[in-house]
Amino acid sequence: MKKIATYHMAGYALGFAFVLVGLTMLIAIFWQAWPSVSTSRPIFPALEQYLWINDFDFGLGVRLKLMHLAIVGAAASVFGIVILGLSQKVFYVGKKVLLECPFCKNQWKASRARVWSTCPYCNQRVQPKAVKTRE
Ligand SMILES: [Zn+2]
Repeated sequence: MKKIATYHMAGYALGFAFVLVGLTMLIAIFWQAWPSVSTSRPIFPALEQYLWINDFDFGLGVRLKLMHLAIVGAAASVFGIVILGLSQKVFYVGKKVLLECPFCKNQWKASRARVWSTCPYCNQRVQPKAVKTRE
């Protein structure tokens, strides 16, 4: 459980980092391109042409076409979203637990173990016993 939660947190952090970096790159590129292409009709071919013609100078002789940066930014965003999705899944599977009411002995599934919970059968505030952790 703890291990899965840790993976989950790391996955979320990584996913958010990728999405953030990717979106920042895309926004920065569009911010720069927009004044040049916003008056063009149709706009998308003009934007595509702009991204191929212009490049970004990182310094030290490293130059990359804006189009390549846009592709990397889009890929990073998609990758981050996929990681976020996977983290969610791992989290969900890992935390499903079967709880038992100490009074009526009925069991119910919960998304995670709790110290206090309301029994869905006798509707009392109880300290449920975690019967087993499973998918
Ligand atoms: Zn109960």
